[in-house]
Amino acid sequence: MTQQTTSPNAVWQAVQVTRSDRERLNGHRGNILWFTGLSGSGKSTLIHAVEKQLHAAGRRTYSLDGDNVRHGLCGDLGFSNQDRVENIRRIGEVAKLMLDAGLIVLCGFISPFRADRLRVRGLVAPEDFMEIYCHCSLEVCEQRDVKGLYRKARAGLIPEFTGISSPYEPPEYPELVLDTGNATVDACMEQVFSRLSVRL
Ligand code: ADP
Repeated sequence: MTQQTTSPNAVWQAVQVTRSDRERLNGHRGNILWFTGLSGSGKSTLIHAVEKQLHAAGRRTYSLDGDNVRHGLCGDLGFSNQDRVENIRRIGEVAKLMLDAGLIVLCGFISPFRADRLRVRGLVAPEDFMEIYCHCSLEVCEQRDVKGLYRKARAGLIPEFTGISSPYEPPEYPELVLDTGNATVDACMEQVFSRLSVRL
């Protein structure tokens, strides 16, 4: 499916303050950290913990979290394949704007389809995007069942649930793989910081 990305007659306006100006003011570069993985694999836990630590260190951040964007920006979308594609497309564009604002953007989305993640990656320069795979088996995620969603999905109450009745396509070349099924939250955070530090 080809998507129209520019409205008819829209003319790009030159800006007076650029991303590098903002980054200079911030004292660090912006970046997109894209956490992907099954529900319950640890995306939310990690983005908020990493953000808290970055913020305490004086870094400018913003977290885009799966459930939160579905309260507004993507509140009109469901979980059909078509809606999932649109969900990630919108979030990708928002993350790109936030990157241009000079922020470290932490995105936590199941984002089950490889093509959608690749499309977001393609919106920015390679050094601006870090795909972080929260690797955790379905069994462990289901045991955790943080939001009780797996139980509902198994009972047939949630159609098209990733891992149960809708596919998850693991990243082929992520910048980082976290063993969120076995390692501690602290150990995973350490890995993120050591990869991120060379980018800022
Ligand atoms: P998701 O956002 O991917 O749906 P959550 O972050 O909401 O997942 O839930 C993950 C659960 O797994 C939390 O209860 C968290 O405390 C636990 N957990 C255990 N080990 C880790 C780890 N290494 N990284 C992230 N979460 C972990």
